[in-house]
Amino acid sequence: MEKMSRRSFSNKVSQGVAGTVFLGSLPLNCAMGPAARSQQSLGIALVGLGSYSTNQLAPALEQTQHCHLAGIVTGTPSKARTWMQKYDIEESHVYNYETFDQIANDASVDAVYVVLPNSMHAEYAIRAAQAGKHVICEKPMGISVAECDAIIEACRKAGVKLGMGYRLHSEPYTQEIKRLVREKTFGDVRYVMGEAAYISRGNPDQWRLNKALSGGGALMNMGVYAVQSCIYGCGKNPVAVSAQEFSTRPDYFKDTDETILAQLTFPGGIVGSVMTSHNANANRLYASCDSGWFELNPANNYGPLSGRTSSGPIQFPHESQQKLQMDDFALHVLEGAPNRAPGEMGKRDMIIVEAIYRSIREGGRTIPLDIPQDYGFGG
Ligand code: NAD
Repeated sequence: MEKMSRRSFSNKVSQGVAGTVFLGSLPLNCAMGPAARSQQSLGIALVGLGSYSTNQLAPALEQTQHCHLAGIVTGTPSKARTWMQKYDIEESHVYNYETFDQIANDASVDAVYVVLPNSMHAEYAIRAAQAGKHVICEKPMGISVAECDAIIEACRKAGVKLGMGYRLHSEPYTQEIKRLVREKTFGDVRYVMGEAAYISRGNPDQWRLNKALSGGGALMNMGVYAVQSCIYGCGKNPVAVSAQEFSTRPDYFKDTDETILAQLTFPGGIVGSVMTSHNANANRLYASCDSGWFELNPANNYGPLSGRTSSGPIQFPHESQQKLQMDDFALHVLEGAPNRAPGEMGKRDMIIVEAIYRSIREGGRTIPLDIPQDYGFGG
C-alpha cells in the first residue's frame, strides 16, 4: 500500500473526527509565496546544499503552494547555520551525512529531495526510502541502469512515491510540445532534434568532470535533456541508437566526455538527433512534421523559454519551473495527481545513456533498444 503523507493523513483524521480543519504544522519558512500555501503541505528536506539547492530549489520553495522547506542535510556546519537563519529552520531538522538516517524520526519531513553529485543519488534516494520518506531524485537518476533499478525497488518496497527532478515536465512550453505531438496538430513527426550543451571552462577538478562522481560528462549532465526532447518531441521511445564522441580539449576533459552526437530511431521511421556538449552552447528542440514544424529555443534552461511553430509563436507567462515541479510532486503525494516525472522515466533515460556510451565504445555500432513504448512517460 502506498504510504500516505503524514499531513494528508492528519488532515483526513482530524477533519473526519472533529469536523474541524486541522492546520498541520506550519511551514518553517515564514516568507510565504505570492499565493497562500494550502493547508496540506508536503515537508521537503533538501540533501546537498550546493548551487542548485541554494539558487533554485530553496527560493522556489518560498513560492510553492503545496510543499515547503522542512529540513536540510549538509556536511558543512557553516552552511547549516546560514540556512537555519535564512529559512528559520530548527536544529532538530538539520542533518549531516552521518546522522541522515535519523530523518526517519522527523515527522516534519515527508519527502527527501536528493541534490547531490550524480554518483551519490542512489545511496541517498535508497536511504531516504528506507527512512519512509517520499523521494525526489535529481537528474541523472543514477550513474547506471542498475542504480535506477535499485532506487525504484527501494521506493516500491517502502511504499513511498518517487519523482525525478525533471522540472520541464511541469512547465507550459514543454507541456504545449507534448500537446502538439499528442493531437498531431502538424501531422506525424518525421524528424526530431534535441540539443543541450554549454561551454565548461571552470575548475577542472569540479565533480562534473570527475567520472567517479558524475558517471560521465556532457551526456550525463546535459545529454539527458536532449534525449528527453527527442522523446517528448515525437511522443515515442526510441528503438535503436548509434553515437559518436568528439574530443577537442582532452587536457581539460581528461576523465569525461566533451561532445556527443547520437542518432535515435523511433517506431514508424521517425529519426532523432541528439547533440550534447561541455564545449559548445546549444539549447533547442525542433521537430519537423508532415504539415509543419515546432521548436523551443531555449528549450532546457530555467526560463523564460521561447517557442514557435510553423503557424506562429508559442507564448506563456514565466513561472519558476522548480516551483511548478515541486508543487506537482506534492499534489501527486497528497492528492494522487499524476506523477509527471516518475522514476521509470529516469531509468528509461539511463537505458538510452548506457546504449549511447556502448555505441561509442563499439565504434558507432547501432545498438537496439528494448524499451516498451508505454514505459517511462509521466502523467
Ligand atoms: P554543486 O556542486 O553545486 O552541489 C553539490 C553539493 O553536494 C554540494 O553542496 C556539495 O557540498 C555536496 N557534496 C556532498 N558530497 C560531495 C562530494 N563527494 N563531492 C562533491 N560535492 C559533494 O552541484 P549542483 O549543481 O547543485 O548539482 C547537484 C545535482 O543536481 C546534480 O545531480 C545535478 O545534475 C543536479 N542539477 C539539476 C538541475 C536541474 O535543472 N534539474 C540543475 C542543476 C543541477
